[in-house]
Amino acid sequence: MDTDQARAWIRGIAAQMDTHKDHLTRLDSAIGDADHGVNMQRGFTAVVGALDGYAAKSPGDVLVKTGNTLISAVGGASGPLYGSFFRTVGKQLTEPTGDGGQLAIALDAGLQAVRKLGAASPGDKTMVDALTPALAAFAAQLGAGQDTAAAAEKAAEAAEAGVRETGPLQARKGRASYLGPRSIGHEDPGATSAALIMRALAEVLRP
Ligand code: ADP
Ligand code: MG
Repeated sequence: MDTDQARAWIRGIAAQMDTHKDHLTRLDSAIGDADHGVNMQRGFTAVVGALDGYAAKSPGDVLVKTGNTLISAVGGASGPLYGSFFRTVGKQLTEPTGDGGQLAIALDAGLQAVRKLGAASPGDKTMVDALTPALAAFAAQLGAGQDTAAAAEKAAEAAEAGVRETGPLQARKGRASYLGPRSIGHEDPGATSAALIMRALAEVLRP
């Protein structure tokens, strides 16, 4: 990934959030407080604004700026979580361009930061349930000799499958956990936005 691709990834995420804002809000109205669509859309609109005219020298610069902006612009739990995700990914990508293996390591560090901050494990019905299978698929595909674009496509598909698997789970973290068993039967909004982030990555890396 190079600096332009990092910018394109963020613009792609912003477009995904615009398109899917109402869906994210519907999911969050079922098991939360109906603000996830607004949080994500507002957050990434702010990020696009912050990146406009910002002289980034590396993909890391773009992604650290993204994380910092999300932390200050998004009120909900997702703001600090995605903020630390992008900051941590960005801190790893300090060269002007990097290969798929470096991206895999950076994304993995981002997931670990989310898990540390939110104390969520796979199966708790959070964004971790989309990111974990996505990054496992990304690394596995690269390990099997696939190129970065093909690996990113499989990662997006694994994230989307991870979202579907959150449906039958009972939430153990975040606002949805207050509902106890009533959280069962609804896909998790944050897992859904995480899958959109991985889908945007696959689109930007596609040759
Ligand atoms: P809030 O819950 O504060 O209203 P959002 O609606 O923007 O914030 O985000 C909700 C999403 O955040 C959830 O669907 C879940 O995926 C994610 N989330 C909440 N708490 C945690 C946590 N502790 N660890 C990981 N993800 C979490
Ligand atoms: Mg919410």
